[in-house]
Amino acid sequence: PETITVQELANRMSERAVDVVRLLMKQGVMKKINELIDADTAQLIAEELGHTVKRVAESDVEEGLFDVADVEGEAVPRPPVVTIMGHVDHGKTSLLDAIRHTAVVKGEAGGITQHIGAYQVTSPLGGKITFIDTPGHAAFTAMRQRGARATDIVVLVVAADDGVMPQTAEAINHARAAGVPIIVAINKIDKPDAKPDKVRSELLQYEIQVESLGGETLEVEVSAKEKLNLDKLLEIIQLQSEILDLKANPDRPAEGIVIEAKLDRGRGPVATVLVQRGTLKQSDIVVAGSEWGRVRALIDDQGDTVPEAGPSTPVEILGFNGAPEAGDRLAVVENEARAREIADYRTRQKREQAAARATVRVSGLEEMMS
Ligand code: GDP
Ligand code: MG
Repeated sequence: PETITVQELANRMSERAVDVVRLLMKQGVMKKINELIDADTAQLIAEELGHTVKRVAESDVEEGLFDVADVEGEAVPRPPVVTIMGHVDHGKTSLLDAIRHTAVVKGEAGGITQHIGAYQVTSPLGGKITFIDTPGHAAFTAMRQRGARATDIVVLVVAADDGVMPQTAEAINHARAAGVPIIVAINKIDKPDAKPDKVRSELLQYEIQVESLGGETLEVEVSAKEKLNLDKLLEIIQLQSEILDLKANPDRPAEGIVIEAKLDRGRGPVATVLVQRGTLKQSDIVVAGSEWGRVRALIDDQGDTVPEAGPSTPVEILGFNGAPEAGDRLAVVENEARAREIADYRTRQKREQAAARATVRVSGLEEMMS
């Protein structure tokens, strides 16, 4: 049901909250400033105070965002988006760095690559692959909580000298819950105490049966340190991606997800976004969470300014009015007024939810003290 806190209603009318409380009392409604009242009561109070009321349902405000399905005929193949997950110290960062470094050596990336939270490389089979380069579990969870699916494939890194550990199991559960296929990368095979076969049999307990044991899960033995079998890993990722038959329509306004965002001293709010559908262009008006802006510049994973970014492309956006949150979904809207309306609406919602949580905490305290 639609609700609003007393404080928020007062704010929107530029009235004092105590006056709203008093008026509510007159109507026989006893509410504290941070408590919620329903929309009908709110309207009554507002009109009582001489305000005109325009009720906007969530469905109206958010309408048109994220609901345009890709028409089958227009969808074209897109690169897979890959997240590397696994237990701490099993080599996630090393593997991401090694893959990126290999691309740099091949001349794909221009010299010093800047870190934007995601990057794209070309597999030896010729297809592009997008890696999300942020701490796996946290980002993955944040995105899933917001109902966004940012990953097509999880590469599960398991150190051959350590085996399956708690966060390995956690990663398996995350991937399963999200319905994302797993590729097993058995890392650190350069180590003398590496026991890749032990890893394989341990994974059976989690119902992961790798190919060499007659199962379906693709696997590869790698060494991030010695840069062994990295090409093979990329090939397997591309194979898995071809099985998934990933497609998106590039000819529509962009939709995507915020991978990370920060407030940069010189450049203002900077958001790294993964475009998922459509094509993001310079001058587009974007909304993400409760922030919006006009795209002033798009910067790719090599630090180059680009005019546009298509499906599965990670790109930095300059031009937001504030930094959105990791996991926020991004959409392009038709004009600034619409962007502002959506952002304002979400800001209010956030504030109301926070106020409602505070109320629960306060009343909880009162019960404890009574
Ligand atoms: P993360 O916590 O999963 O990101 O793991 P890191 O990438 O930080 O690696 C943890 C440690 O393992 C570091 O000291 C790495 O140098 C080391 N390491 C990572 N990959 C390999 C590998 O293939 N072989 C060896 N011998 N050491 C590795
Ligand atoms: Mg790490």
